[in-house]
Amino acid sequence: MENAISIRNLDKTYAGTKKSPPKKALDDVSLDIPKGSIFGLLGPNGAGKSTLINIMAGLVVKTSGEVTVWNSNIDENMRQAKASIGIVPQEINYDPFFTPAKLLDIQAGLYGVPAKERRTMELLKLVGLEDKAEAYTRSLSGGMRRRLMVAKAMVHNPPILVLDEPTAGVDVQLRQDLWRNVKELNRNGVTILLTTHYLEEAEEMCDQIAIINHGKIIANESKEKILARIDTKEIKFRLDRDLAGIPKRLQKYNVEREGKRTLTIRYSPEEHFIGEFIEILRKDGYEIADISTDDSNLEDVFLQMTNSSAA
Ligand code: ADP
Repeated sequence: MENAISIRNLDKTYAGTKKSPPKKALDDVSLDIPKGSIFGLLGPNGAGKSTLINIMAGLVVKTSGEVTVWNSNIDENMRQAKASIGIVPQEINYDPFFTPAKLLDIQAGLYGVPAKERRTMELLKLVGLEDKAEAYTRSLSGGMRRRLMVAKAMVHNPPILVLDEPTAGVDVQLRQDLWRNVKELNRNGVTILLTTHYLEEAEEMCDQIAIINHGKIIANESKEKILARIDTKEIKFRLDRDLAGIPKRLQKYNVEREGKRTLTIRYSPEEHFIGEFIEILRKDGYEIADISTDDSNLEDVFLQMTNSSAA
């Protein structure tokens, strides 16, 4: 399969200052992003996601390694590589006094798109903002602003769209609207690279997922395989009386005590089932006042994976 983006042995070390030592942000990263895919790059804060994106966008200079974007090596033809990518940044950055139509027009101008090739209304329609073309952008909701940023990133018709934490701080309904728009773009042939914290977002959107931590790729597999690996569940038991300590037979599990009466257990449903825990608690003489469950928490998963990758 042909790749939209191909990265080989990429290193980035930020120079230190008087106050801080040099920081290795990317450590021998190799990654292929297939054309036509929706590729998720997941990782906790500080993992190196923005550094990777910024190198592709020509905003950060790599230390070593090779990056090829849409068949252009960034060392040989940064201009062409840049023209092949549209980036939707984390922060919303535009002049609130322009209307959405004007904003896209200006952006197209910056990219040298001739007036007759501009697709302002088409793009606004794509992100569900056609009836807002002439509105004050400052009157747009948070979700609409994000969608406008997607349209802005697409003015030069790039074959690759990069979304950096696209739905951070966006409510559920608007998040789903954005997902729909991004999927529509993908159906129209655009390769999507997105970084996210949200497991749900990766699950909903991505074909393939890579996990990065401390500048290293620690997993890179199909969504199905990765989700099976990170299928951790969390269950909380509130007990009828104070705990003397963590019951002995529970100590082999990943268990945490919260306050006097609550235990949190994290487990893989492939290996354990809730009945085991309940039985142990009952045998130790506790009654269960309340149970609540939670799905995988990505931070936990990162920890698990990095611990096992370090071992
Ligand atoms: P992420 O996007 O996954 O949160 P970043 O790429 O922003 O991660 O950061 C990776 C690491 O590089 C972090 O430890 C961060 O503190 C460091 N870093 C990022 N930008 C700079 C910079 N301009 N100068 C020095 N260190 C930086």
